[in-house]
Amino acid sequence: MATIIDGKEVSGKIKESIKWRVEELIGQGIVPGLSVIIIGDNPASLTYVNNKKKTCEALGMRSDLRQYPASLTEKELLEVITELNNDPEIHGILVQLPLPSHIDEFKVINAISPEKDVDGFHPVSIGNMMIGNDTFLPCTPHGIMKMLQFYGIDPKGKHAVVVGRSNIVGKPIGQLLLQKDATVTYCHSKTNDLKSFTKQADILIAAIGKAKMFDESYIKPGAVVIDVGMNRDEQGKLCGDVDFDAVFETASYITPVPGGVGPMTIAMLMENTLLSAERGVPKDKPSVSM
Ligand code: NDP
Repeated sequence: MATIIDGKEVSGKIKESIKWRVEELIGQGIVPGLSVIIIGDNPASLTYVNNKKKTCEALGMRSDLRQYPASLTEKELLEVITELNNDPEIHGILVQLPLPSHIDEFKVINAISPEKDVDGFHPVSIGNMMIGNDTFLPCTPHGIMKMLQFYGIDPKGKHAVVVGRSNIVGKPIGQLLLQKDATVTYCHSKTNDLKSFTKQADILIAAIGKAKMFDESYIKPGAVVIDVGMNRDEQGKLCGDVDFDAVFETASYITPVPGGVGPMTIAMLMENTLLSAERGVPKDKPSVSM
């Protein structure tokens, strides 16, 4: 039977530590500020941004939530981003994806100052991550690495198979695992015989967005299974890409959905915002990282 990797517990510990550092910063006259921009009224996106706002406030940070109608033009959005780039009270800027089709996502991400790119999606942040420089790491992959560390799972020498190659999850998690000396294989929708790869995985990262696709027939006995997916099953219940019940007996560790990767993503966003606000403050304080 697998050990359940409890993302709520790990993220709770990280948030406690963040709260303490925020109090210290406020004592020095700096309130970490996160600006979240949402365009349109996609219900899932609204839930995500409201969770970010609530978490920000619970940790004593300033949350600046900006909601615009889907008719907002690209030019208007770029002007908002420029204003926020120049606002000294804002330390992090996040534009909730997806954007309406008339707005170029790449242009928008590029417009955010790399110094405030707390999502870690800017090409400068990605480039720095690739070469192992200190930078804002993308929140979901960073959160996964923190969970592995918390549970004493060392990727060194392990075969990590990443299914999914998006810029925000699949590609960066593979890079972070590589930096920790895993041997990494990427799979995607054009991979032939997917199972032949996943069955070799000591660490399997499932990030494809297909409800419960990975059952025990995809899993090597004793594998660490990290489920990034956030889907709805036939009953409308939140579920991952992994069939949790089917895989539970085969895996050694497994993340549940909900309560696994999701809470870590928000915690890492808060940590990035805090780190951004801490810039310029003398570096004699302990890091919030565990
Ligand atoms: P994308 O849709 O951007 O990417 C999905 C990837 O999965 C693509 O690379 C695609 O391949 C691959 N893929 C799709 N179907 C298959 C298949 N049948 N077999 C193999 N590969 C397949 O998704 P994201 O990376 O943004 O998100 C993935 C999942 O993670 C979603 O469920 C999303 O909701 C969730 N998510 C959860 C987060 C959290 O905090 N818990 C944060 C971010 C995302 P190809 O490139 O060939 O098209």
